[in-house]
Amino acid sequence: MRVTGTLLPSGERTELWLLGDRVTFTRPHTESHTVAENLFLTPGLVDVHTHPGHDEAAVFTGERFAAECAQHVAAGTTALRVPGHTGPVPPALRTDPAMPRLVTAGRLLAHTGLATGHPMHAPTDDLLSAGLAEAAANDGWCKIIADWEHDEPPVPEPALRALVDAAHARGFRVAAHCQTAAGTRTAVECGVDSIEHGWYLTDDLIERLAARGGAFVPTATAFLQIVDDVRGKPEGPRKDYFLGGVDGLSRSAAVAHEAGVTVLAGTDSAPFGNVVSEVRFLLSAGLPPTVAIGAASWTARAYLGLPGLVEGGPADLVGYDVDPRREPGVLSHPRLIVLRGRIVTRR
Ligand SMILES: [Zn+2]
Repeated sequence: MRVTGTLLPSGERTELWLLGDRVTFTRPHTESHTVAENLFLTPGLVDVHTHPGHDEAAVFTGERFAAECAQHVAAGTTALRVPGHTGPVPPALRTDPAMPRLVTAGRLLAHTGLATGHPMHAPTDDLLSAGLAEAAANDGWCKIIADWEHDEPPVPEPALRALVDAAHARGFRVAAHCQTAAGTRTAVECGVDSIEHGWYLTDDLIERLAARGGAFVPTATAFLQIVDDVRGKPEGPRKDYFLGGVDGLSRSAAVAHEAGVTVLAGTDSAPFGNVVSEVRFLLSAGLPPTVAIGAASWTARAYLGLPGLVEGGPADLVGYDVDPRREPGVLSHPRLIVLRGRIVTRR
């Protein structure tokens, strides 16, 4: 399959070929057919924080996982990081040609001291062993609940620090849910790689996160859906905490980007295939279009270790009629979606 267009973010005019699940910029000797011309070309969208596969009681099934991943793919989302799922992802789904590239993190580990009681959470008093086991059984990531109730202490620092150090020694990475000032501080200070939600992220913490190449995933999409409801609730510390956390995300995203933190797009919510909403949030926060779109595409892939549209790279390609950096709305209307070298959509 031959495709021509403009590569993002470089802006380079290009002609490329998809040979099975491989990209090449060198004309193959075999005959090819042109599937699209003059598109703006990306390796597809990425949602780095999504939990497909669960029913209302947080019961995970492979069928539901595949169906909700298909919703992501239909929107041009060719890769997902799944930072927490209650059941294992069936191995056959990882190589299924219809499935997006997956980076999973296993069970959401909550230190027993937090006693969340949330059906998604797996309580443990041994974060170290549990975290290493999940990272090894998944894609080198584990996911920790660093805090839960707004007025309760976060995960004990020694437990989280021990896990992060041991994970890094093995080449694994740690993502942490944090929404309280104390939880966010603990996660950053313990060396967590990817700060999820990151409410009350202060400038000193942003500097520390930047200095070690950390990532921040604000998941504003999830909160903006409910913020009006919360505004209508009776006054009180819980409401203040929620609104304060959400209100701070925009500034944190902008400051984090300026400081050199890798800001990434994750939705943490239904509908699946909605990461464009997080791009809109990042744009509204003042991130440049190339950065905001990259956060949901090439930058996210690089952070997850997935090649983009490079010689010999995987054949994931999503093309648009106009430059999404000029018209971000076009991200919701891909002209061409190719996943693993197979055409999903061609309009
Ligand atoms: Zn989540």
